[in-house]
Amino acid sequence: MSHYDVIILGSGPGGYLAAERLAAKKIKVALIEKEEIGGTCLNIGCVPTKTLLNSAKLYAHSVEGAKFGIEVEGAKVNWTRVQAWKDEVVARLRRSVEFTLKKEGVDIVRGWGMLAGGHKVVVRQEAASAEVELDADQIIVATGGSPVMPPIPGAKNNPAVVDSTGMLALKEIPASICVIGGGVIGVEFASLFSSLGSKVTVIEMMDEIVPVMDPQMAMALRNALKQVTFMRSTKVTAIEGSKVLYEAKTGEKGAVEASVILMSVGRKANIEGWGAQEAGLEIRNRAVVADARLRTNLPGVWAIGDVTGKSQLAHAAYRMAEVAVADILAVRAGTKSAAQFVPETVPWALFSLPEAAGVGLTEKEAVARGYEVAVLKTPYAVSGRFVAENGLTASGSIKIIAEKTTGRILGVAMLGAYASEHIWGLALALERRLTLSALQEMVFPHPTVSEVIREAAWSANL
Ligand code: FAD
Repeated sequence: MSHYDVIILGSGPGGYLAAERLAAKKIKVALIEKEEIGGTCLNIGCVPTKTLLNSAKLYAHSVEGAKFGIEVEGAKVNWTRVQAWKDEVVARLRRSVEFTLKKEGVDIVRGWGMLAGGHKVVVRQEAASAEVELDADQIIVATGGSPVMPPIPGAKNNPAVVDSTGMLALKEIPASICVIGGGVIGVEFASLFSSLGSKVTVIEMMDEIVPVMDPQMAMALRNALKQVTFMRSTKVTAIEGSKVLYEAKTGEKGAVEASVILMSVGRKANIEGWGAQEAGLEIRNRAVVADARLRTNLPGVWAIGDVTGKSQLAHAAYRMAEVAVADILAVRAGTKSAAQFVPETVPWALFSLPEAAGVGLTEKEAVARGYEVAVLKTPYAVSGRFVAENGLTASGSIKIIAEKTTGRILGVAMLGAYASEHIWGLALALERRLTLSALQEMVFPHPTVSEVIREAAWSANL
């Protein structure tokens, strides 16, 4: 049996970052992975979707360029090349992660890892029909998540129904797509394929799409995605071949026919098949329970990333990895780590065209928590750069929610170009409990789209 200081189960953003950081501190690490290094995010999530969305953006610019004086004749999508570029990007980034892990001295162990009692882990290597036994002082569980397949009659074994992974592997651009579920992943795919010419319908059970988003901003996003048909307050009742049957809250029933049906009703933590229950790990709401330092109920076992159910975002998994690593290093040194994972200040981003992002509380949440709020809304059209680059009618706005009495920033939602790039600054403002006056006193470069943040802060009349 090989002994390690730390064994990590799963090499997604949580697992590989933890491995890199620990190994950089001369900790002997085994990183166990049953599929490709990089996990969901790098192989079948963040990276491939954003690569495809960038190709869609370039195509949209080519088609719409005439209003800016750039006429591209015969612009067309070469889907085979688009897919090949996506695969190249994924392969390149995966090689880069593997290189760093090897350079830092991490042992990558291929196979299916299982907790086997105490601090022992058994790795099943199907190709070699062998089992490897490892043990360690500490274990990090980072097994991630996977798409939920709801028991909708007619969905199972239906070749027309795919999940996000199937969507990334499409051999051609479908003539029509029905997206079941208007969350972040569903809306990104809707935006992507509608920009490339597919007829897209999104069916959402709730009254508004993207539940994480301020409903007013979500409505603005919906309106901006003009080429997508959104059906809200509508439940899918069954699928018959390529027909999606639905019933609206109003009682109206009908069907949407599509060449491809994307099931994107959410993701679940990977808590099965690796001995979590048998080892006695506490599971609640179908996720591994971990505290703010990512410690589980089992001594010497930490859990990070999607498997904890704290967040389903890659950057949250990164942060959880850092917090767990700080705690593990402290335990090993006999000290105490002050690092904690704070979900409230984790920003989110939706890379549709236009993109959206947010952090902190929505207006409704802030009011529900008893805050007297100031709501500051500013259109992106106040930014010269935004108008120059996006035109006179492009959608974009920022909404800041602040505490009226103190001016403390409680939440921000943004819709428009570069929102995903700007939101970290507002996350910092929340994390550091900054007030509107701090934003007012910041000097923003001109002309930039980020100036809308400053304009929104100055619109306050507190
Ligand atoms: P994962 O990335 O899921 O990795 C877990 C790894 O563990 C997997 O490689 C798995 O094979 C391995 N594993 C599991 N069990 C075992 C076992 N028993 N033995 C060995 N290995 C095991 N997030 C963002 O922040 N931004 C985005 O733009 C974004 N876009 C997304 C788009 C799509 C289509 C999808 C599906 C997800 C997207 N996400 C995005 C979410 C993001 O991918 C996840 O939040 C992130 O990957 C979670 O990281 P993780 O380390 O917890 O687990």
